[in-house]
Amino acid sequence: MNKILITGAAGFLGSHLCDRFIKEGFYVIGMDNFITGDKKNISHLDNNSSFEFIEHDVTEFVKIDGDLDYVLHFASPASPIDYLKIPIQTLKVGSLGTHNLLGLAKAKKARILIASTSEVYGDPLVHPQTEDYYGNVNTIGPRGVYDEAKRFQESITMAYHRFHGIETRIVRIFNTYGPRMRLNDGRVIPAFMGQALRGEDLTIFGNGSQTRSFCYIDDQVEGIYRLLLSDYALPVNIGNPHEISIKDFAEEIIKLTGTNQKIVFKELPQDDPLQRQPDITLAKKLLNWEPRVDRNEGLKITFNYFKNLTAEELYKSEHKDFKQHIKK
Ligand code: NAD
Ligand code: UDP
Repeated sequence: MNKILITGAAGFLGSHLCDRFIKEGFYVIGMDNFITGDKKNISHLDNNSSFEFIEHDVTEFVKIDGDLDYVLHFASPASPIDYLKIPIQTLKVGSLGTHNLLGLAKAKKARILIASTSEVYGDPLVHPQTEDYYGNVNTIGPRGVYDEAKRFQESITMAYHRFHGIETRIVRIFNTYGPRMRLNDGRVIPAFMGQALRGEDLTIFGNGSQTRSFCYIDDQVEGIYRLLLSDYALPVNIGNPHEISIKDFAEEIIKLTGTNQKIVFKELPQDDPLQRQPDITLAKKLLNWEPRVDRNEGLKITFNYFKNLTAEELYKSEHKDFKQHIKK
């Protein structure tokens, strides 16, 4: 039985990856410190004999007993509001955390896949974004803590690959959504859906002309699964190229939720990328992968998930309390 360690297991993407790898016959070790994740996302695996969970902060030495075949490093805050609130932890998990996991992979002779992001392209001047574009990142801006941690993560991963010869994979994930996102994590889909459910105005940052391209979770997981099992060490974009402006998207959400919310405009956060769309030519060729779930279908499933949250979860609009997870 193949054994895989998945960091960030209690998060949105990590928990879906745990499910997928168990389904594929792997023994999964989930690891998380719950800083932005939620126990509830993996509680259905409590009595699963193919799963164990270790509560641990991966910026500290990571110890795993016995053999290990694969590592998926997904631990990191991922929402702009999260990483603005915990900037040092974000830098640490992308740098020190990645270093620990590469060291573990080297010691165990395991293959490691790290979760990079479209944010390595910053506010891109090349559109759509191809893997050979170096990006346009403001190192000292508020988003720099995430973007630069992820860029460092790619660099150290390639160094371990070239210098130590370990098997590495790098996925550049573009905006992905679906059930188990935290309703109050500030990302645009939970934000708009939460507002619609509470009967609040939808908040557009800036004039809404900025674009994003949203990928449904099942498509993302499929792409990651294929990339891990491929023999390609350089970064690969995984995302859905179907691009939409945030203004049109807000209108789409109003229609989909059947609500009558108004739209209000707020200040655009600093360095918010004005356009984003993955070029997925490489993933198509290399992995024979492309997204299958269209936005309308994916958004309906996601809205149903949020609709079924308890009133307490729906109205807990204040941001997650990070303090209990941060060591002095
Ligand atoms: P998430 O916040 O739901 O999950 C991240 C998980 O990592 C959480 O459970 C959190 O508690 C855990 N974590 C954070 N720091 C940790 C630490 N030091 N030690 C142990 N666990 C820690 O976010 P997500 O959307 O599931 O993102 C997962 C990964 O995918 C991240 O690396 C993120 O950068 C990457 N990514 C996601 C997207 C997306 O659209 N969802 C896009 C690009 C990249
Ligand atoms: N956004 C918005 N209203 C919100 C939350 C986000 O208009 O309530 C915008 C945000 O400024 C960005 C886009 O939606 O342009 C996507 O934001 P998100 O936080 O989901 O992720 P990003 O792609 O910026 O990492």
